[in-house]
Amino acid sequence: MSTDTSSDVQVTFSDLALDKSLLKILDEIGYESPSPIQEKTIPLLLEGRDIIGQAQTGTGKTAAFALPLISNIDIKQKDPSLLVLAPTRELAIQVAEAFQKYATYMKGFHVLPVYGGSEYSGQIRSLKRGVHVVVGTPGRVMDHIRKGTLKLGNLTALVLDEADEMLRMGFIDDVEWILEQAPDERQIALFSATMPQQIRRIATKYLNDPEQVTIKTKTTTVNTIRQRFWPVSGVHKLDALTRILEAEDFDGMIIFVRTKNSTEELAEKLKARGYSAAPLNGDIAQNKRERTVNDLKRGNVDIVVATDVAARGLDVERISHVVNYDVPHDTESYVHRIGRTGRAGRQGDAILFVAPREKRMLSAIERATRQKIDMMELPSTEVINDKRIDKFKDRITDTLSKDANPIFTQLIEQYQQEHNIPAVEIAAALAQLLQGGNEFLLTNKPKRKQKSREDWDQDGGSRGRDRDRGRGREDRPRRERSERSERPPRKERQKDTELDEGMSRYRIEVGHDHQVKPGNIVGAIANEADIESRYIGRISIYDDHSTVDLPEGMPKELLYTLKKVWVSGQQLKISLDGQDNKSQTPGDSSKHSSDKKKTGKRHPVMPSDGGRGNDDNRGKLSLKKRARRR
Ligand code: AMP
Repeated sequence: MSTDTSSDVQVTFSDLALDKSLLKILDEIGYESPSPIQEKTIPLLLEGRDIIGQAQTGTGKTAAFALPLISNIDIKQKDPSLLVLAPTRELAIQVAEAFQKYATYMKGFHVLPVYGGSEYSGQIRSLKRGVHVVVGTPGRVMDHIRKGTLKLGNLTALVLDEADEMLRMGFIDDVEWILEQAPDERQIALFSATMPQQIRRIATKYLNDPEQVTIKTKTTTVNTIRQRFWPVSGVHKLDALTRILEAEDFDGMIIFVRTKNSTEELAEKLKARGYSAAPLNGDIAQNKRERTVNDLKRGNVDIVVATDVAARGLDVERISHVVNYDVPHDTESYVHRIGRTGRAGRQGDAILFVAPREKRMLSAIERATRQKIDMMELPSTEVINDKRIDKFKDRITDTLSKDANPIFTQLIEQYQQEHNIPAVEIAAALAQLLQGGNEFLLTNKPKRKQKSREDWDQDGGSRGRDRDRGRGREDRPRRERSERSERPPRKERQKDTELDEGMSRYRIEVGHDHQVKPGNIVGAIANEADIESRYIGRISIYDDHSTVDLPEGMPKELLYTLKKVWVSGQQLKISLDGQDNKSQTPGDSSKHSSDKKKTGKRHPVMPSDGGRGNDDNRGKLSLKKRARRR
């Protein structure tokens, strides 16, 4: 197997000084190696350091803090040692479940999720009995602290998970209050996909000499690779995959999954569906792995289902397709993965399955690779059936081109005479025989129309998470909804017209009239002016124009570039807000003057990580939507 020169030594979980019981369960779950955020974070948290982890869902961040902090827990200590704050009930449950799973072999370990809307009595009973880890939403955690049912006196560590989401939801004052109640000597791990100013302030105030963990991104993708993504919805991933396999003309394919176990399971399922597939993971003996790669090279195997580690550096020219069945942990892995196709100047195809809760990873990939990935529709029933018919005819032609066994010709002639049945009917009966019990053509099922990219982008991310888990936001018990309504995102609202320090407000000539979405603006500015999206501040969309806050003193060249950029069919013609477009001086960093004549509806949004900005924007937009839903 030839390898990329870039591939470095792979750290394993057993290199990381984790408790033995954790290594045992990780092996059972089938995690092959630590994800990048885990590799960096676990040693630091084991040492007792405070950390700021810039990571989002999908990177393996839960295990990045859960594994070392479980390792550090003194199981004899019955008052909570660890408190994890999470923005939503769903995330709190998800994180608590992850703790429970990782601590399977830690005798006597207890974790308790606490969130608004659930019964106090059960939670209080559990807290009295003793729990090692509490995972909760800020409001309910505060209530328990006030009631005296949650004691933080023995707390050794605190995790703020999705801190920017807690800020966005108006929980940041509660978070700060809780931090104030914690003992002085405690470790803090703060995780946030973006780093808005308030989060930085909290980090500076409460964290002790924190180590910042950000995952470096590799951004070069080959332009001979066509990249598409399929938004996971309605159809099971395996069914979607088989449709894709039927419709795409592929030569060799590599399908990436997360765990060693999944490589085996998926390869088995594909084999059962008639594909020549084989698993490739780090547990398979080296000689067998080499055999699999050789089989793929020679065409004895068409599909290899692999983990990142096992497929590192794999260089097989015939791989025409890479399918990311599970999203990668980071953008760098994505780039590595899709680099397995498009080898030796050939064309390649990369397909990524993205569940609603993984949208942020899609934005991160698009941002890192500076490329928009096209949304694909699943091949329709008609397309699949046409393919099946073509394939069937090809098989007949192929067989006819080979020397037929004379016995069959004789037999059919004989049968025809004996039964006086036309040859075509006999052929049809044989085809039926060949097909076995399986249906030859798919029957048309009425299909819900797939959402457009824009609609999908605007769908709530945490709602997505709910849907994934089979619990809709609407299912949330009433009390939690009202708990939330008591905490409107006040600060966000106040800031509606304020300009953050160090920022200037610019006007762009595209607005609601042109159906522009905040994500389009962030995407265009981030990509065309090469401005990291975290520097793109508040965006307000009016009827015929919008405003966007950008760092003061934007270089002239950048502004000239931006003037010409097209968004939603309009040139941005960017100018300092409040100045005549023609007379404005690019680069002038004078403060904005507010636009008194604005008449349009305001939709204040502040995408702080942007990319295409969709997740953050969605967060902001949904402030209004949420208010309406209530
Ligand atoms: P998170 O970013 O914590 O939401 O994790 C995303 C998914 O990755 C979860 O389904 C985890 O079970 C999975 N995961 C976490 N760490 C690893 C790992 N080292 N290898 C494979 N899968 C992992």
